[in-house]
Amino acid sequence: MSYRRAYPLPLTWPILRRQVFDRDDWKCVQCGRRANLECDHKLAQHFGGTHEMENLQTLCRRCHKRKSRSERRQYEVSGQAEWDSLLGF
Ligand SMILES: [Zn+2]
Repeated sequence: MSYRRAYPLPLTWPILRRQVFDRDDWKCVQCGRRANLECDHKLAQHFGGTHEMENLQTLCRRCHKRKSRSERRQYEVSGQAEWDSLLGF
C-alpha cells in the first residue's frame, strides 16, 4: 500500500525527530506521557509551518491526534472562508 503525503517530510526527518525528542526529554509536552511519542509541527505544514526545531514538539499519539483533528477543522473553516471571499460572499 502506498500513499503520497500532501506535505512530504525532509530526508533529515528521522534525525530531526530524534533531536526534538531529546530536547523534550522523550515525553509528551502536553500530558507528560512517555509512550507512543510522535513529532508534531506546532504550526501545521498546511498553515505554513516549517521543519525547524522551534516549530517541532513531542506529543504522544493521543495528544497528536486530538491536535490534528482540531487543525483539520480550522483548515476546513479557513479554506471555506477563502472560497467564500473568492465567490464574493
Ligand atoms: Zn500526550
